[in-house]
Amino acid sequence: MRVIETVSQAVSACANLPRPLGLVPTMGFLHPGHISLVNRARKENASVVVTIFVNPTQFGPSEDLSAYPSDMARDLAILESKNVDLVFAPPASELYPPAMDTWVEVGAVSRRLEGVHRPGHFRGVATVVAKLFNITSPTHSYFGQKDGQQAAVVKAMVRDLNMPVHIVVSPTVRESDGLACSSRNSRLNPAERRASPVVYRTLRAAEKLWLAGETRADVLKQRMRTILNAEPLVQKIDYVSIAVGETMKELDIATSGAMLSTAVHIGNVRLIDNLILNGVCQGQRSPRSRGH
Ligand code: AMP
Repeated sequence: MRVIETVSQAVSACANLPRPLGLVPTMGFLHPGHISLVNRARKENASVVVTIFVNPTQFGPSEDLSAYPSDMARDLAILESKNVDLVFAPPASELYPPAMDTWVEVGAVSRRLEGVHRPGHFRGVATVVAKLFNITSPTHSYFGQKDGQQAAVVKAMVRDLNMPVHIVVSPTVRESDGLACSSRNSRLNPAERRASPVVYRTLRAAEKLWLAGETRADVLKQRMRTILNAEPLVQKIDYVSIAVGETMKELDIATSGAMLSTAVHIGNVRLIDNLILNGVCQGQRSPRSRGH
């Protein structure tokens, strides 16, 4: 496994790797969610490239970039054991030299939900993902359903800018109590960690109500708020949403395929999660036809 830190070396090393080439962009501190993407990329491609880069431009001024966890030695050992061909782990100065002054701004899909609460976040994400695509020239790139809006933003960018890469979105990997795996979970204290499954429990409760026949989005969202508010360690709800998965446009009536999502603050940690109504992404039961 080659570990490369400069753009120029990454460009030539990736150009020489056999195709299809699967890229897995990450910010490191790897957990089973990341590893599921790497495993899938390994199965589906002749070459696998993983990037580890904590992208400063997707963090807002009030978000603590320096508190983002990291363990490069551990990450590299995991990736080596997964037969990854190449890891690109540049310092920030490689991707953002002083002259860097071009940005990718995706439209409406990036301004809703996360875009409201994290202004500029998706501009940073889209820009760095576009740069990573140009550097590594993947045929396929792997993203997690966990960050459902991010996947939608990346898909819109690829579609609108005619980027020759196939975006693969993989199911959310969860802890046994339902909490979606996330590098940020390591910052929850024990009481917060015990409270955190409320996020997925909330999504599942709304889904259950929907499966029982309730399709009014305001009723489903009210149920979600009630459950979240009942947990004392939930300090703030940024949003609860029922939206079209491709555009993040809010729905009045929850239809099959809609994305239920929420962002909440537990302690100092902001948690996001989502599920697709009747979705194949959950992998927990077979889809039921609801006739919507
Ligand atoms: P991050 O390091 O948080 O930027 O995540 C890198 C990639 O892993 C993104 O495509 C995420 O959506 C994906 N990912 C993060 N957590 C999970 C999870 N629990 N299950 C599946 N994919 C995930």
